[in-house]
Amino acid sequence: MQYVSTRGQAPDLTFGDVLLTGLARDGGLYVPGAWPQLSHDDLRALAGLPYADAAARILSPFMDGIDEDELSAMTRDAYGAFVDPGVVPLRQLSDGHWLMELFHGPTLAFKDVAMQLLGRLFDRELARRQQRVTIVGATSGDTGSAAIEACRDRDAIDIFILYPDGRVSEVQRRQMTTVLSDNVHNIAIEGTFDDCQALVKAAFNDLVFRDEIAMSAVNSINWARVVAQVAYYITSAVALGAPDKRVSFAVPTGNFGCVFAGYAARQMGLPMDKLIVATNRNDILHRFFQTGAYRKDQVVATQSPSMDIQVASNFERLLFDLAGRDGAVVRQQMQALADQEGLEVTPEALAQAHELFLSHRVDEETTTATIGEVFREYSIALDPHSAVGLRAARDLLPDGPVITLSTAHPAKFPDAVEKACGQSPALPAHMADIYQREERYTVLPNELAAVQAHIRSLRRT
Ligand SMILES: *Cc1c(COP(=O)(O)O)cnc(C)c1O
Repeated sequence: MQYVSTRGQAPDLTFGDVLLTGLARDGGLYVPGAWPQLSHDDLRALAGLPYADAAARILSPFMDGIDEDELSAMTRDAYGAFVDPGVVPLRQLSDGHWLMELFHGPTLAFKDVAMQLLGRLFDRELARRQQRVTIVGATSGDTGSAAIEACRDRDAIDIFILYPDGRVSEVQRRQMTTVLSDNVHNIAIEGTFDDCQALVKAAFNDLVFRDEIAMSAVNSINWARVVAQVAYYITSAVALGAPDKRVSFAVPTGNFGCVFAGYAARQMGLPMDKLIVATNRNDILHRFFQTGAYRKDQVVATQSPSMDIQVASNFERLLFDLAGRDGAVVRQQMQALADQEGLEVTPEALAQAHELFLSHRVDEETTTATIGEVFREYSIALDPHSAVGLRAARDLLPDGPVITLSTAHPAKFPDAVEKACGQSPALPAHMADIYQREERYTVLPNELAAVQAHIRSLRRT
């Protein structure tokens, strides 16, 4: 399997290179040169398999050099620690509506599903190449803990996570700082999340430093993270009767990674009715699907912070397909986005998108009302991200059949849940003692030189 850049000017790469590289050298994102295909018989044969085995079968065609058996050993290891034996269980709400619970991993959000596998893929590829990497990332809350859990105790990886001092919730901070492994380093920056992100970017652009520490990233444009999410669309649809029955999905969306994985599942041959892009007030994607114009706006803070995003970094992957896989068109579009704060697709491209995609925007009050409604109807406490998804599913496809992706455990967003339901959700058993655990982190000023010196002194060589 060769991977091509969405901007058409970077060399084609293999999976191992794409895994370690992240962004293409022409500024584009890597996508498969062709979508691996699953026949209807292939889909039927997945029925009843344990999730880890089904995921290995679905994903191995994307990963040259890793056969199904080797990948299956990795997925079993990655998903063995998930609290629910089904890993990504379906829960039926009503006749046509299901929730897929993606939050049973170590940090209680769906990012674990991809990150847990990514850590193991990194380890394998680095061992094969006899290389080490230093992962440096910035987080506003959820991504940092998922990355730390995925990379802790891995021989070939040191990981440094920058977060804004005093500006992440206590649960989020403790999920990072109570991991005391030798290769894990938390840095509380005296600044904002934007400062943290700017420091990481500046470190990346310091080419001498970048090469010296073999710097790498695990952010959401990494193809391996996106592809790992394809498996649960396919296994859940098969559990509800695919390929002989057709389901829809509703996806709470920020960076367009999760929902792009749903699109990929459909391109691989999974019969799918509609794919709903559900946004909070930060609605650039909803406006795009309404009008064909993708225009930047101010980011506003909401109860669903992981979706408070202005420019969805994975959206370029869809633009590439809508442009007939013509990298020159995508280059022009991305230039317009940079220069004029917006881009447009042709009416034909928008019509093509509408064959699959629907979109919906859910405001703050409706999100709270939905959490309360579902709690009264089913005694299920939804986190605010999942509530945005379910609201979209119920409004757009009231009869279903539709699976809403439930992306975070309610205990991760206790304030929003308490406000809506009148009671606070309990932390799951494996995290119940998180307020008693020892923490380790270093506070640093918002200065690149200080951060670089810290990384140099602590990374293992
Ligand atoms: C990251 C995240 C999302 C958004 O996912 P994207 O792949 O960025 O669209 C939704 N919900 C939760 C809880 C998340 O952590």
